Amino acid sequence: MTQTTKYIGRFAPSPSGPLHFGSLIAALGSYLQAKSNQGRWIVRMEDLDPPREMPGAADDILRTLEAYGFEWDGGIMYQSQRHDAYQSQIDQWLAQGDAYYCQCSRKAIKEAGGFYPGTCRNLNQQPKDSAVRLKVDKPITLFDDQLHGQIALPTAVAGEDFIIRRRDGLFAYNLAVVLDDIEQGITEVVRGADLIEPTGRQIGLYQQLGHAPVSYLHLPLAVTENGNKLSKQNHAPGIDKNNPRPALVAALQFLGLMPPAELAELTVEDILLWGVEHWQLNKLPKTTAITLAF
Ligand code: GLU
Repeated sequence: MTQTTKYIGRFAPSPSGPLHFGSLIAALGSYLQAKSNQGRWIVRMEDLDPPREMPGAADDILRTLEAYGFEWDGGIMYQSQRHDAYQSQIDQWLAQGDAYYCQCSRKAIKEAGGFYPGTCRNLNQQPKDSAVRLKVDKPITLFDDQLHGQIALPTAVAGEDFIIRRRDGLFAYNLAVVLDDIEQGITEVVRGADLIEPTGRQIGLYQQLGHAPVSYLHLPLAVTENGNKLSKQNHAPGIDKNNPRPALVAALQFLGLMPPAELAELTVEDILLWGVEHWQLNKLPKTTAITLAF
């Protein structure tokens, strides 16, 4: 009997503000890809960085997803409850000599040319006021993306010993995302193209952990006229919980589908079903950014 791995995808918002159109694209793209592969779709709350979070945003994001007809499989994982898992992996790497404490300031790195040159690798720094860096001996400079094909990453970035726990004690996004994707059995990551660059480090972490990486699909990013990603800082409006259908239809269009006019009259559940039935990767615009006027 052949055993096939079941598709498991996820949407992993950071609760730094309400869900805006950019995050709706990531939610919808990952959902359609999972459901059209008869897979599971998980929601994970990336509440890893309290100073950047907005009180109430995590619940607000979940209520917005519900209003848009999304149903996630299983419970929600909160990264704020995963600190022990992150720390124990870091401790193991420190004990094995695969990671080390670093006290270099941003300014010092800037002065050294902008890329971390491994200054503290053999200095045996003390834990106090230190970041933890992973030794990168096999930089990942190439990877395959389902939409964009082979992606080449800048070697200077790829070769850096990168931070897995910050000096302020917060865990780094790359570490948390990979440990959680492994823990949740994720088979494919579908997310915005702003996360193409960190993908190399994430694949490096899989390697370090002796685990096969997931496959990747980076969706075009919705950007403002001056090229910035939609965010709280540039006042991207939260999407409307009380009138979800127009934004949902616009998100389908953004992802290359051609919803008929009548679709806007259906329920959000039926709009999503239409999306699952019509979803085709080869209709996705092969670009990393699409400008929207807001
Ligand atoms: N939490 C990240 C964000 O909201 C996404 C992480 C990921 O999809 O890997 O930008």
